[in-house]
Amino acid sequence: MELKEFKTDTIIEPFRIRSVEPIRFTTMEQRKELLKKAGYNPFLLKAKDVLIDLLTDSGTGAMSSQQWSGMISSDESYAGSESFYRFEKAVQDITGFKHVIPTHQGRAAENILFTTIAKKGDVIPSNTHFDTTRAHVEHNGAEALDLVIDEGRQPLTIHPFKGNMNVEKLEATIGRVGSEKIPAIMLTLTNNSGGGRPVSMENVKAVSDVARKFDIPFFIDACRFAENSWFIKTREDGYEDKSPIEIAREIFSYADGCTMSAKKDGMANIGGFLALNDDQLAQDCRSLTILTEGFPTYGGMAGYDMEAVAAGLYEALDEGYLKYRIRSTAYLGDKLIDAGISIVQPTGGHAVYIDAKEMLPQIDPLDYPAWSLTNALYLIGGVRAVEIGTVMFGLQPDGSEKPAAMELVRLAIPRRVYTQSHIDYLAEVVIHAFEQREQLKGYEIDSAPKVLRHFSARLKPL
Ligand SMILES: *Cc1c(COP(=O)(O)O)cnc(C)c1O
Repeated sequence: MELKEFKTDTIIEPFRIRSVEPIRFTTMEQRKELLKKAGYNPFLLKAKDVLIDLLTDSGTGAMSSQQWSGMISSDESYAGSESFYRFEKAVQDITGFKHVIPTHQGRAAENILFTTIAKKGDVIPSNTHFDTTRAHVEHNGAEALDLVIDEGRQPLTIHPFKGNMNVEKLEATIGRVGSEKIPAIMLTLTNNSGGGRPVSMENVKAVSDVARKFDIPFFIDACRFAENSWFIKTREDGYEDKSPIEIAREIFSYADGCTMSAKKDGMANIGGFLALNDDQLAQDCRSLTILTEGFPTYGGMAGYDMEAVAAGLYEALDEGYLKYRIRSTAYLGDKLIDAGISIVQPTGGHAVYIDAKEMLPQIDPLDYPAWSLTNALYLIGGVRAVEIGTVMFGLQPDGSEKPAAMELVRLAIPRRVYTQSHIDYLAEVVIHAFEQREQLKGYEIDSAPKVLRHFSARLKPL
């Protein structure tokens, strides 16, 4: 018997499920009540009342049996635990950086780095600073400057690496403020605030060349370094035959250090690190770590968290995983595009962003169209998404309100959590909302705090 080779384009989940967690179904009547009680703010819903939770991909992933086995056999010694050395070895192996400082989250690594290097009058350029990064830079009196390429700000322009930094603008900035006022240059991989958009290796190299020419330290915000490596493999010439780990190592080889949230491509529920080469800077950062996090061999993490991250960093770089990961995001994006829904293109690594301004022209930006769509998704199908629009960004320091540049609804996909049928269901919910878009109405704010109001504001339908 001669069997033909089996070929398929179907990408299956590269795991089988060994532990399950029930999700709770509710009726639309119940969801109406629940949403009203939550002040029409999905952040204030109880997670148990959500069927498919796409609020964030941060710390919400499923861990592997290997991660769990590491957790059970962890070493919880205060100083010099085996778990730390396994964690340190994994980070050094992948990043090549000499010093590894564990922290409880990415923002703790940012706090330690920027408190140590930044001061009033300094400027820290990046492609786009993530909000916690920006907050830490500004907290230390420095300016957080975003220099993403123009295509990165245009939702409908197709460009393979929309996270790239504009290198000419970087050089102009150095010329304007002087290299002594720039304690570091950063690149966020992938560019989260820009929609999970990757940065090309060519751009990483170009930024690194400028940093070296002017003797400025170059740091990577590495939260989604594995997803970024996959985009380089599949979109950039010369990388198609390299493995994701080889690509990741090359990226880090051009930098002097990185900050990392292990809640993303660390595949863990909590954790992070700061890694860097400079001995003196590492010593200064460790002193601050003791003050704010803990002894430098555990920082802000339990031994079992470090075990989960040590295994997770390699799992995030697994080709089968990355292929499935990026495909599941694109699969959702394709379904929405086919239905005529306008999304930010091309889809990034960890989320799909729906353009609510385009979908709901009848709702004035100051009546929060993206918020309205977010609530509709919950009412229709128990889906929790997040508004990235005027409720999040519209409040000005003087108390006035200005429409945000874009009205987006982000559907962030947790890692290894939802199956293809969950995604099919989700697409149906969004399409149902789209078909009834003329019915959707705006909202107004009932009460809200002065800062970061989207987390706890209470709203009313108009
Ligand atoms: C999540 C994130 C951070 C902050 O990490 P936390 O673990 O949430 O503190 C920093 N930068 C980027 C790009 C992120 O996505």
